[in-house]
Amino acid sequence: MCGVVGFIGSENTAEILFNGLKTLEYRGYDSAGLALCQNNSFHILKAVGKLENLLREMQKNSSLAATMGIGHIRWATHGAPSLANAHPHVSNDGKTVLVHNGIIENYKELKADLSAKGYRFSSDTDTEVAVVQIEDELKSAASFPQAVRQAMQKFRGAFAFLIMNKDNPQMLVAAKRNAPLLVGRGEKGMMAASDVPALAGHVSKFAYLD
Ligand code: GLU
Repeated sequence: MCGVVGFIGSENTAEILFNGLKTLEYRGYDSAGLALCQNNSFHILKAVGKLENLLREMQKNSSLAATMGIGHIRWATHGAPSLANAHPHVSNDGKTVLVHNGIIENYKELKADLSAKGYRFSSDTDTEVAVVQIEDELKSAASFPQAVRQAMQKFRGAFAFLIMNKDNPQMLVAAKRNAPLLVGRGEKGMMAASDVPALAGHVSKFAYLD
């Protein structure tokens, strides 16, 4: 079990994501990471081990003023705990970035199909297959959310995703099947997370996604 947190709004995104991840530490993890969207570009920070290691990476990048971002604490199921396997993972074209909780059971066959189409992989995770699958679906889908829907139909297992795409800088997509994921709305923004404490202080209303 691990945790995901996402925020889109006007507050200090990096701090909100980090504090949200702190509240999810009880779930157990071996590495952590953030993707921050600022001026239509993604900044990815990752660290193996405790969240304090991620905090050091954040302090080196303290000038980032993102208005949207996603965060993750990983409990490795596919691939060793390492920087290469830590989330967020990025599509081959660099346009889509994703964090993932859970397992994609059929990732090997999806990876073989995507590799045959020429896509490359730089981690051992099932997660990277998901972001590349979405990249491939974007070629035929009418929209970013539609590409995620198409990809979700191909995944087997239990999982929750938070996803951003450079061509849709005002949008954070949350998708899940058989894994916990909440969405919340506050005055300064909207959030999604694996558990209620991560939303505390930032939202006035929240709902569990079916
Ligand atoms: N299966 C993914 C991985 O090994 C996600 C694990 C998790 O839920 O943290 O990276």
